[in-house]
Amino acid sequence: MFLHWIDQHRDELLRFAAGLVATPSPNLPGDERAVVAVILAEMNRLGLSGADIAAKEPNRPNVIFRLRGRRPGSVPVLRGHSDTKPVGDASQWQTDPFQPVFNDGKLYGLGSTDMKGAVAAMIYATAALRECEADLVGDLLLVINADEERSMKFGSEFLAKDYGLHADVALLGEPSGIDGPEFEFLHLLSRGISCFRIRMFGTQMHSSLTDRLPSLNTNIKLAEVLKRMNRELRLTFSPHPLCTAPTVNLAVRIDGGVGYGVCPGVAEFQTDIRTLPGMTRSQLEVDVERFLDAMRKDDPGLRVELEFEQPPLDWIPPTEVPADHLLVAALLIAAEQVLGWRPRLSAFPGGTDASKFQVLAGIPTIPSFGPGWLRLAHGPNECVGTEAITMPAAMSRRYECGIMPGSKCVCSLEVARSMSGNAVRTCPSGSRSSGTLTTAIRKSEAAAVASSVEFRMFADMFQSSFFTLKETTRYLHQFARPVPTQPF
Ligand SMILES: [Zn+2]
Repeated sequence: MFLHWIDQHRDELLRFAAGLVATPSPNLPGDERAVVAVILAEMNRLGLSGADIAAKEPNRPNVIFRLRGRRPGSVPVLRGHSDTKPVGDASQWQTDPFQPVFNDGKLYGLGSTDMKGAVAAMIYATAALRECEADLVGDLLLVINADEERSMKFGSEFLAKDYGLHADVALLGEPSGIDGPEFEFLHLLSRGISCFRIRMFGTQMHSSLTDRLPSLNTNIKLAEVLKRMNRELRLTFSPHPLCTAPTVNLAVRIDGGVGYGVCPGVAEFQTDIRTLPGMTRSQLEVDVERFLDAMRKDDPGLRVELEFEQPPLDWIPPTEVPADHLLVAALLIAAEQVLGWRPRLSAFPGGTDASKFQVLAGIPTIPSFGPGWLRLAHGPNECVGTEAITMPAAMSRRYECGIMPGSKCVCSLEVARSMSGNAVRTCPSGSRSSGTLTTAIRKSEAAAVASSVEFRMFADMFQSSFFTLKETTRYLHQFARPVPTQPF
């Protein structure tokens, strides 16, 4: 019934997704009012009225909708964001970025993959649950927040710190394909971000006198420091099975000097580091200063300093949901049943709102599992597969196999298999992992059995995420058996 409802509303869902793309919400400058108006109108039309609008500032609204369960249970969050990156260089687009175009099974336009397609899917999934699920266990929170693409201050940070968002787990529907199919990966880690400047000083003076008076061309010095830092900077971290090393991008921008006629007196380069769980800002600072001290020792005249960016860019913490978390188990099983293959466990390369929901609000957060491709996000000709957003979360179907307290169950074994088959590192900076997360598998088996009630709840709520029509047909064919009625 649930899937039938989704199928019946396929065209509406696609029109709505296109309408979101046609309503600009670039950040910068950051103003989600227009797109939120479109979202609320559609939610009201679908019977999802009474959403809470919470805003730190009036032009940065966040939408929070609670679908009440019929029975008490844990509360999961389906979360999307309503802002997009700015267009950038529009001449690189083959279509108007704000004019949605359907072509070749894809929806093109700014924000289609990141993540207006997923937002549309989540809203329709919630509507389908409301229409079709008579016995929802626990409330479902639908959260569409502002300001993911820039400071997070008006979105996830505000919701986690000031609004008091409470939930048991969260799923961010960020695009989880990279260079394969949509839903390629189930991302358990969200890498952190640390941005800082290395600044150095020389002699600003008339450039015609540099051969007659003592002078130091800071730009030349910058080149020396940069080259050596590229060779010698060593960061403290422990490799993770899903991502072995942080990513270091030195000199993502260089500034220095005034121009012709002036010996450069100040120069700096900006550095962007994508961190792993376990890394800390203070240790990173120690590591960078250790390198600078070595430079100073060899070059006593060198005046160089480290300056971290203003928050949040100085340190957006990494997050991780452990592989043995019940949500991971439920998602893996659901995804395999729906897609016909298992997404690989992975580390999301960039930072996400998980850094706020998990670190500040204490909500275990899957940073990315949704339609679209991360490689197309923030670039020209962004698109998302229409089928992938056509069939959003079908979270109400019951597992056909039971998990009885104290007994071993097919589900837990499936989890174990999923995990052993997926312990492959896929992070850009990593290579294949030799570890197979054996401990996690054992733990997950034990957890699934010991917490059967809780596991069942997650299984219900996250039975599947977003999937394609073709796969849904297969799904329906395979699982069109009666729902078991025994109590759990
Ligand atoms: Zn996003």
